[in-house]
Amino acid sequence: MTLATLIDGKRSAEALRARIAERTATFRDTHGLAPGLAVILVGDDPASAIYVRRKGEQCRAVGMESFPHLLPAETGEAELLALIGRLNRDPAVHGILVQLPLPAHVDTQRVLAAVEPAKDVDGFHIVNAGRLALGEPALTPCTPRGCIMMLRETLGSLRGRRALVIGRSTIVGRPMAQLLLIEDCTVTIAHRHSRELPDLCRAAEIVVVAVGIPELIRGDWIRPGAVVIDVGINRVPDPTRPGATRIVGDVAFEDARTVAGAITPVPGGVGPMTIACLLQNTLDAAEAATRHTGGASTHRHEDTLVY
Ligand code: NAP
Repeated sequence: MTLATLIDGKRSAEALRARIAERTATFRDTHGLAPGLAVILVGDDPASAIYVRRKGEQCRAVGMESFPHLLPAETGEAELLALIGRLNRDPAVHGILVQLPLPAHVDTQRVLAAVEPAKDVDGFHIVNAGRLALGEPALTPCTPRGCIMMLRETLGSLRGRRALVIGRSTIVGRPMAQLLLIEDCTVTIAHRHSRELPDLCRAAEIVVVAVGIPELIRGDWIRPGAVVIDVGINRVPDPTRPGATRIVGDVAFEDARTVAGAITPVPGGVGPMTIACLLQNTLDAAEAATRHTGGASTHRHEDTLVY
């Protein structure tokens, strides 16, 4: 039995970070300052705190500046908006990320909308989402951007491929579908109301799954030779260690890898590329800002690429 090629997200992320570090060094030499990422964390959710710390470490590892803003859980919306306003105007800050989820007393949409689109390195601002939907240059959400990079590394051109995206969230599924469309794929989007999901899968040469249900996608749903990108991260009981848990994706990995041509593991697939793409977005935002001004003072969204 031939097993699918493993798409190694750790290795891809390492290679991407090396390229980013090189371009960051050039940026510093040229402009006399480093690309800077501000990360705002409200409250003390342990998982969010780990993510924020990891983002800061990775920023510094590639030579970028990291500006963490760790705020108490009771921080009010007005205070948060005022901070975002200051960061929007700060020429040393090229990217702003608001770690989600925010506490319930804060209107998340209002906060995300306050981030200057040219500094919106999460790609969640409606201006970036709209530009992406129009096929125009935009800052693109990190997870789908990482998925596209891995697909390109695996397949080369994606033109004409039949792609199925399962899940339509604003942070993964929808932007993923838009990016595949930009790559000239024939795109189908499935969600909880989709009928005949197994048949949709069997028709697809590329399957990207972002649902959040452990091992929903069965091995015999996969078309032989298909490329499978599993975005899901689900914690489940570990049958081999009583009382312990383990992480699985949205795809029944062991079965799927006997049919697929290539597949991402969970963990070690999409996850590592997501943070690397955050660094890439920050670098893109910094380069776009300076392209226009020669320094890093004024941001104009139309100068901001990319994906
Ligand atoms: P989400 O906002 O909960 O969206 C889930 C999507 O799955 C929805 O569009 C939903 O459809 C659809 N869905 C639910 N049940 C379904 C079913 N039975 N059949 C088909 N579609 C179904 O989740 P998300 O934020 O996109 O995240 C999805 C997963 O990816 C989670 O496990 C999350 O932890 C993981 N994730 C990983 C990374 C990473 O870096 N690796 C990043 C982000 C997210 P409806 O729209 O109809 O409700």
